[in-house]
Amino acid sequence: MSYQHLLTELDLGFTRLRNRVVMGSMHTGMEDRFWNYPKLAEYFRERAKGGVGLIVTGGISPNRQGWLLPFGGTLNSVFDLRNHRLLTEAVHAEGGKIALQILHAGRYGYQPFVVSASALKSPISKFKPRALTEAGIARTVRDYARCARLAQRAGYDGIEIMGSEGYLLNQFLCPRTNRRTDRYGGSIENRMRLAREIVERVRLACGERFIVVYRLSLIDLVEGGNTWEETVQVAQALESAGVTMFNTGIGWHEARVPTIVTSVPRAAFAELSARLKAAVKVPVIVSNRINTPELAEALLAQGAGDLVSMARPLLADPEFVLKTAEGRTNEINTCIACNQACLDHTFKNQRATCLVNPRAGRETELIYQPVSGSRAARSVAVVGAGPAGLSAATVAASRGHRVTLFDASATIGGQFNLAMRVPGKEEFSETIRYFQSQLQRHRVDVRLDTRVDPALLAAGGYDDVIVATGIVPRSPAIAGIDGANVLSYVDVLRGAPVGRRVAVIGAGGIGFDVSEYLLHRCGDPLPIPRDTWLDEWGVDLTVRERGGLKAPVPAQPVREIWLLQRKAGKLGMGLGKTSGWVHRATLARNGVKMLGGVSYLEISERGLKISRQGAEEWLDVDTIVVCAGQESLRNLYPETAARTADRSNGANGVKDPKSAKGPRYHVIGGAKVATELDAKRAIREGAEVAAAL
Ligand code: FAD
Ligand code: NAP
Ligand code: SF4
Repeated sequence: MSYQHLLTELDLGFTRLRNRVVMGSMHTGMEDRFWNYPKLAEYFRERAKGGVGLIVTGGISPNRQGWLLPFGGTLNSVFDLRNHRLLTEAVHAEGGKIALQILHAGRYGYQPFVVSASALKSPISKFKPRALTEAGIARTVRDYARCARLAQRAGYDGIEIMGSEGYLLNQFLCPRTNRRTDRYGGSIENRMRLAREIVERVRLACGERFIVVYRLSLIDLVEGGNTWEETVQVAQALESAGVTMFNTGIGWHEARVPTIVTSVPRAAFAELSARLKAAVKVPVIVSNRINTPELAEALLAQGAGDLVSMARPLLADPEFVLKTAEGRTNEINTCIACNQACLDHTFKNQRATCLVNPRAGRETELIYQPVSGSRAARSVAVVGAGPAGLSAATVAASRGHRVTLFDASATIGGQFNLAMRVPGKEEFSETIRYFQSQLQRHRVDVRLDTRVDPALLAAGGYDDVIVATGIVPRSPAIAGIDGANVLSYVDVLRGAPVGRRVAVIGAGGIGFDVSEYLLHRCGDPLPIPRDTWLDEWGVDLTVRERGGLKAPVPAQPVREIWLLQRKAGKLGMGLGKTSGWVHRATLARNGVKMLGGVSYLEISERGLKISRQGAEEWLDVDTIVVCAGQESLRNLYPETAARTADRSNGANGVKDPKSAKGPRYHVIGGAKVATELDAKRAIREGAEVAAAL
């Protein structure tokens, strides 16, 4: 593929973008603290070096009222210029362009100064907003213009006005949150007045030779959102007011329709940007669940937009554009839309990083220094080609170490081979594909179908042994657990036949995934077709009704499922903040009975006997599937060494005290600790151990 649309320059008249890839705004947490700006500069520098056309920063508030969190990032005085210049200089040094996103959170702010169009509390912040007075509105407009002018002085090539996802400007635009009776409420002309005034004042303050992107909500996905006609009216008014291009926003944060998690079909909402493009003359940026160059190119070729915004994919791989231009797309580390290390971190007030790329946001801390000279290169055995072992092997080899990677099975990927069979998680296969390309690129000696034992390791004469052997599924002590009607999640995901009525023991991430897998009709196409997905979630892309919602099409579950846990309370509370509710809603919609506070008494041919709330009952099920967590498999790790390593992070490895001349041992991933293991920790530990060799 030539990627002729994606890699073509965009001439804006007064400036040019070197290609059509926009790194969408992503709050990293670093923009909120001045001492993190040097780190943020390196984060952006790597992405600019990787060829991105235009970078948009994380949201910066134009004033204190607009903070998302207390003491969030601002650019409202000359004293802030120095920090911001670090970012613009880093990006310009690599030939890139950068725009500051101005984000006023309105009633989404998690702080006591919040304001909105009307005094209506949002369901996602405990702070009730004050309705802005007309004088307050005038001040807010001035604050936007001042912030934009300061951005220009800091060297930014432009700004993006955040007008979507339910933030302040969206709150003014929609009747859901705008109940005003003055010049800023009522008709759509009045509701859009604030947005229009801001664009006009910014243009006045910054002149014509400055990029002004407006991120417009194309479908609000909440009751009381706008209709398509209103959205087009707003777009045309903002275009006349001076917008250089539109970026597209999909759904408010409080919407009960997922818009970016893995299970959302790729480019599900792209037809909306195509329709916006037909209604305006300025360029339109298409966004949401676009994560491969092939898809981005196809969307531009079809006319869905003039540019493509990718935020998380650029977190996952800063060289996305470079690899595309060099024909190395097979080497792109694809974002799998898990949200585990980016958005889930942001919501927990932690620095954003990436599950598949632990260097993201840690560019100055996790450094893969090449080893100097062949004498410094160590001979390394990595046992286990799951995410932890793959990460360790590829990073170690990329630094110049001689690496041999073993796995007992015939394929690399470990448990990701099971995860990718879950509907909506098919893209986990991209991570395996990425690691495969890196094994080849860095000439790792891969030995599959090889179960490693101590003798094999001793014969290899390695300097380092990295034990990444993962886990074994836990088999709980329940009478009858060995029965023919009991299966482990491994059997199920490998295709073992399962009856129509099923009890799932254990409601962690895997219990949820397996339940979702079992709801799926055998033989249905994967991934789920976009239109089926839109129907199930009640989304109408014509946006005839306000917000683009319609009655969801009821699900037709093929199995009756009981999902069980011993803990009392709601199930799935340990799942990710931004994805857990999607899993819970999917199972609930499909009639899965989710029971907490369960004791497992006995299994027989009849099914599973449980007690709950003081009463015993039989669940008359055909199959019982065990998803009761896992235990570490680490028999290759010398036990005496293990005790030492348990007290340290083991990054420098430990010697087996029984053979002082032997290799240094390291243990990572599930083999190290099985509890609360996820791929984020597995991949990070692999990279950290390999970086320290
Ligand atoms: P593993 O993936 O278990 O890999 C260990 C490897 O070691 C295996 O390939 C095994 O064959 C090999 N091995 C073992 N002993 C030997 C030996 N003696 N010699 C040679 N090879 C050996 N995590 C997330 O973060 N997010 C998710 O959404 C997610 N979803 C999941 C869904 C499912 C259905 C499953 C099963 C898991 C999911 N996980 C998820 C968990 C994630 O896959 C694990 O955390 C991760 O795979 C652990 O990596 P690891 O490398 O430590 O171990
Ligand atoms: P888990 O999250 O630890 O859940 C294990 C479940 O088994 C719990 O519901 C637990 O609840 C139950 N359990 C534990 N010991 C038991 C016993 N002796 N008898 C009966 N039930 C028992 O582990 P997992 O579901 O196997 O997942 C493994 C890892 O993969 C997780 O840490 C998770 O982070 C990751 N993962 C993540 C996702 C995701 O979407 N982010 C998806 C899949 C997997 P009770 O003790 O209350 O019964
Ligand atoms: Fe993508 Fe997951 Fe990385 Fe976020 S953490 S950028 S969603 S792969």
